[in-house]
Amino acid sequence: MTLITNHMPTAELQALDAAHHMHPFTHGNELGRKGARIITRARGVTLTDSEGNEILDAMAGLWCVNIGYGRDELAEAAARQMKELPYYNTFFQTTHVPAIALADKLAELAPHDLNHVFYAGSGSEANDTNIRMARTYWAQKGKPEKKVIISRKNAYHGSSVGSASLGGMSAMHAQGGLPIPDVHHINQPDWWSEGGAMTPEEFGLARARELEDAILELGQDRVAAFIGEPVQGAGGVIVPPETYWPEIQRICDKYGILLIADEVICGFGRTGQWFASESYGIRPHIMTIAKGLSSGYAPIGGSLVCDEVAEVMNDCDFAHGYTYSGHPVSCAVALENIRILQEEGIVDRAGSEIAPYLRRKWEALADHPLVGEAKIAGLMGSIALTPDKASRARFAADPGTAGLICREECFANNLVMRHVGDRMVISPPLVITKPEIDTLIDRATAALDAAQKRIEAEGLMVPAS
Ligand SMILES: *Cc1c(COP(=O)(O)O)cnc(C)c1O
Repeated sequence: MTLITNHMPTAELQALDAAHHMHPFTHGNELGRKGARIITRARGVTLTDSEGNEILDAMAGLWCVNIGYGRDELAEAAARQMKELPYYNTFFQTTHVPAIALADKLAELAPHDLNHVFYAGSGSEANDTNIRMARTYWAQKGKPEKKVIISRKNAYHGSSVGSASLGGMSAMHAQGGLPIPDVHHINQPDWWSEGGAMTPEEFGLARARELEDAILELGQDRVAAFIGEPVQGAGGVIVPPETYWPEIQRICDKYGILLIADEVICGFGRTGQWFASESYGIRPHIMTIAKGLSSGYAPIGGSLVCDEVAEVMNDCDFAHGYTYSGHPVSCAVALENIRILQEEGIVDRAGSEIAPYLRRKWEALADHPLVGEAKIAGLMGSIALTPDKASRARFAADPGTAGLICREECFANNLVMRHVGDRMVISPPLVITKPEIDTLIDRATAALDAAQKRIEAEGLMVPAS
């Protein structure tokens, strides 16, 4: 057995990867032929690959490395905890200090009366918890028929059977027999693609009112909850019109259904405040958290729960939990992450200084001939690629063709920017500096120029009819 290390030639590592490693959300054989890019180390906002390229990670990994790479304090917190108590569970009337301390910290940070946490190992698991908790809550209140959870098309809530059912990704529903029963999807507030002749404000109201229509159609006595990402992330950083969330809140209040804010991406500073529910004036009963909670240094997620729901749930024996619910090492890492985000003022600076600077630069990309709209919420942004700005046209080519070309040009320019269909998205670490933002924008512009040339040369600059 050969020792596999960073020092092996890239091609050999790629061959081993293709032989034995099945990648998520990937066509295995296609990747096998190309060879995966091998990331060997990272610092701040910069990744290094096995060929020595230095790449600006404008995605913070998968939207999660809010604090940036290479913080030794988090590694030390993990090592300390592993030596003291590497594992114990919280199932059988036991607890431990990291779980207690993190719960206390989260109750302090979270808005409104989200004073309780049910831990999970990931965002997907937390949303599975939410499905069972919302339904159990209503059953406990003598309304077991309130089971339906209303979500949105093109939402992303995770990849497990439950959370992917909540999600509205048709490609995911097409595999493995999803969705589970009693999940209902309404349309998303994506004005650029679907707003037609309406103003964004009119469209935001119209899309929110689909929730009211769905409640009336399904019956108020059957609906348990509505779930939404304050800003849709994996769906393409869809920033809703300002009219959207106040109307959703009004409808949830009026019909007495639970509001679940999935802040797995939005939480922990991404939108410039600790939680997007604060930015958008949302009062959730349950909030899903993960990703930025530990800045991705250790796997952890959870459901923040309001006083009223916690009171009802605490009156029953909820037959639910994960081996790694409240894992002590993950809790210790999350605590250290939050301590640094707070004490170094990283979230505050992201909101007050970095976000406005990035917004100015990002919105200017809308002047590029290939770019329709440029949207941004704090430090998550997107641009829509289009063959014709004036008519907000899609490409005639398959969705994602132009986006993929643009992503390849980003890679060639040492920039990680992801494509979702024909939208390009960013979500950089919150610690990104102004000069690094300049570099990001320079590389994005060079990639857009190169992508435009290729798209034109391949005869793809054609609007769908
Ligand atoms: C990533 C994500 C999830 C799933 O989290 P995992 O940790 O990958 O299971 C859920 N909701 C949203 C909004 C996400 O972006």
